[in-house]
Amino acid sequence: MYRTHSNGELRLANVGQEVTLAGWVQKSRDKGFMIWVDLRDRYGITQLIFDEERTPKEMVEKAKTLGREFVIQVTGEVIERVSKNANIPTGEVEILVKKLDILNASLTPPFTIEDDTDGGDELRMKYRYLDIRRNPVKESLIFRHKVAIEVRKYLSDKGFIEVETPVLIKSTPEGARDFVVPSRMNEGQFYALPQSPQTFKQLLMVGGLDKYFQIVKCFRDEDLRADRQPEFTQIDCEMAFVEQEDILNAFEGLTRHLLSEVNGVEISEFPRMTYAEAMKRYGNDKPDIRFGMEFGELNTVAQHKEFGVFNNAELVVGIAVPGGASYTRKEIDKLVEWVKRPQVGALGMVYVKCNEDGTFKSSVDKFYDQEDLAKWAEATGAKPGDLICVLSGVADKVRAQLSALRMELATRLGLRDPKVFAPLWVVDFPLLEWDEETERYHAMHHPFTSPKPEDMHLLDTDPGKVRANAYDLVLNGNEIGGGSIRIHDKATQALMLSHLGFTPEQAKEQFGFLMNAFEYGAPPHGGLAFGLDRLVAILGGQETIRDFIAFPKNNSGRDVMIDAPSNIDDEQLKELNLKLDL
Ligand code: ASP
Repeated sequence: MYRTHSNGELRLANVGQEVTLAGWVQKSRDKGFMIWVDLRDRYGITQLIFDEERTPKEMVEKAKTLGREFVIQVTGEVIERVSKNANIPTGEVEILVKKLDILNASLTPPFTIEDDTDGGDELRMKYRYLDIRRNPVKESLIFRHKVAIEVRKYLSDKGFIEVETPVLIKSTPEGARDFVVPSRMNEGQFYALPQSPQTFKQLLMVGGLDKYFQIVKCFRDEDLRADRQPEFTQIDCEMAFVEQEDILNAFEGLTRHLLSEVNGVEISEFPRMTYAEAMKRYGNDKPDIRFGMEFGELNTVAQHKEFGVFNNAELVVGIAVPGGASYTRKEIDKLVEWVKRPQVGALGMVYVKCNEDGTFKSSVDKFYDQEDLAKWAEATGAKPGDLICVLSGVADKVRAQLSALRMELATRLGLRDPKVFAPLWVVDFPLLEWDEETERYHAMHHPFTSPKPEDMHLLDTDPGKVRANAYDLVLNGNEIGGGSIRIHDKATQALMLSHLGFTPEQAKEQFGFLMNAFEYGAPPHGGLAFGLDRLVAILGGQETIRDFIAFPKNNSGRDVMIDAPSNIDDEQLKELNLKLDL
């Protein structure tokens, strides 16, 4: 038996017992006549004591050779500590060692295995197995496990069945670029890795399984914007014979369950907001509603004066920054610079200080009097002491810019408390989205999403206006889930694909299997998928998903630990009938 107890287990009640422990050397202190060693495993730390008077001499000698991260096994007696450590649960006892075995030596680790390590990101990733020994990473992985188990419990109790779907599938355009895998047995042909199990879960509904879920890896070959991973995990779900309302209720239930079980937070009904409203009030389809600073549109009160910039703008819109009137000129100039950065892209910013005495001081006092500015304050909900920040220009762009400013200021003002949870549903997304580059409409969600029946007549005349039965679940300014009611008849699916620019031949070639299935009694169905990595990170009160993934990839999509992707040898290329042209 390697151990009788873990290193997090022993208490005063165990004093007098002989125990065997195993683990890693966290640190050792050699006082000459006495050596203390902190022994660590997943469960905690136990202090060992080697005492010249009471420990066999050769064991003391051996203890002197121990380095950080050596793997050892000790046998000894649990004794009460003279100076107790109230910071750890085992802090009242120590082990008076009688026998020490070195199970494996260790090189000195390239960074310290401490909560706050001296290792940079790249180094930590290269030695991720050492990084995982650190509490924050270990705790994050355990936390993820807890969430995943709760998901499985909840959904299984509600009658959902977890079904595995294939990983080697057909390349179908679902929005992002596919990762492809060459087939050796089928010369010149390729599998794709699923961007999601979307079509399979729909086929499971045609197959009559009624309620499906799967915690599943998905793969998207996208340029990695901040904090994205090329492979990530979804809680993927689908239900048959449902309307949007049934799905929102089912998965609001799951989210509420997780918040309650994992975070001890009880939240009643989640608010709902249409996409149009979210864009108008927050300039964002995933608004963070933990704080206010809602958009106030100023076109009617700010245009038709002498200020040309506003007169020529499609949208003039502002937010009130709480307490911002006290910002110095320099601080405001910095904000202006911030919105003009290429990542945000505003051309400038107009501001109004709402003084405590009810007067206003603005950067456009030449064009607007106190009465005008009072109207701006009313429209943005600004109070004395606030600062109104105003941007103008093309509506879509200005909304995105002001939304970025709103989030930045909220972060600076400490309004984005990770312990506060504010979920909401955003519904009625547009079905289609115009893509400037390809000059074509794309499916905003994916091509299997059902248009709202009452908007179908607009499909030919005003496609951008057609709304979909599509919804997102938003938590603290992040999209944590999204889905839709699906098309379940061949004619509508074919119509949809033709609007997305597929010829009938292409539609058949790419999606024939799905449309065929729709001819054999496909039930009405719909579903959604949660991004598990992000969900876990937010529930865990963190901004980034990395530490909740055991072996994440870096921003170039590399695993720096195993060094992937990597070259393959000529023999492998030949087998696959591949030639490189670099
Ligand atoms: N497959 C979709 C996605 O990955 C989710 C869904 O529509 O259920 O975004």
